[in-house]
Amino acid sequence: MASVSLARTIFDESHDDFRETVRSFVERHVVPHLDEWAEAGRVDRGLFREAAELGLLGISAPERFGGGGVDDFRYNAILIEELARVGATAVGMSITGFNDLIAPYLVALGTDEQNERWLAPMIAGDTVGAIALTEPGTGSDLAAITTTARPEGDHFVLTGAKTFISTGMLADVVIVAARTDPDAGRGGISLLCVETDLPGFSRSGPLKKVGLKAQDTAELFFDEVRVPRSALLGVEGGGWASCATTSRRSA
Ligand SMILES: Cc1cc2nc3c(=O)[nH]c(=O)nc-3n(C[C@H](O)[C@H](O)[C@H](O)COP(=O)(O)OP(=O)(O)OC[C@H]3O[C@@H](n4cnc5c(N)ncnc54)[C@H](O)[C@@H]3O)c2cc1C
Repeated sequence: MASVSLARTIFDESHDDFRETVRSFVERHVVPHLDEWAEAGRVDRGLFREAAELGLLGISAPERFGGGGVDDFRYNAILIEELARVGATAVGMSITGFNDLIAPYLVALGTDEQNERWLAPMIAGDTVGAIALTEPGTGSDLAAITTTARPEGDHFVLTGAKTFISTGMLADVVIVAARTDPDAGRGGISLLCVETDLPGFSRSGPLKKVGLKAQDTAELFFDEVRVPRSALLGVEGGGWASCATTSRRSA
């Protein structure tokens, strides 16, 4: 009977080198802290800086913002595999969540000015990002969100709540989906980059979960937060369509 090889052929030498780098990062900076982070319900902020030093954040983001500029998901997959190998999936979601969910929104929709302000410091590991779509009353059905961002001159006034937000407790900037036009259905949803030191923002957590203990999952509250219009990500009213296309691209 002919033997069947189970060796994977999708990786080349540069992927193998990258895997070595990731494996040593995980052994040195992740494994020793697994119990402590599970107990705390979140990773340490320093993890992002250590990952950044090795170029593990923003792998596919443009080099001009400090990213790797490599459009090859095999690198992202290696990162996921090496974290899963030591049972650090929850920890990994902080890093892979940034690479595969948050950064793609900024790269696809952000202006150069916005990306200098928000994407570059995240890639450098100096700040932490999150994305907030889910609400206490809606998850899968994004078109049913009730958080509002009322246009008022040069600002949007943001009011509502979000839940189950990954890296929500650590986040310095949150991409928030909110209704800028209450009468336009899914065409009335926009995305705003909300800095978490703005007055009216608060959060609670990390939420206790049955698994993914080290993953910081939070509730966010917005009480008349005045967000400058310059924080609009993409076009006003284009949030629902952006989520549909960007999430599909990064999935
Ligand atoms: C660990 C964790 C981290 C998360 N991180 C984030 C985050 O960073 N940002 C964020 O915005 N959200 C986050 N979420 C929330 C997540 O996106 C939602 O849980 C998800 O969208 C599902 O929403 P829901 O929980 O309200 O379930 P529901 O939408 O109520 O769905 C419940 C069940 O019904 C099914 N269902 C729903 N609608 C239909 C339909 N039309 N037809 C058939 N079946 C249907 C679903 O598949 C699911 O099985 C996180 C959740 C978890 C558990």
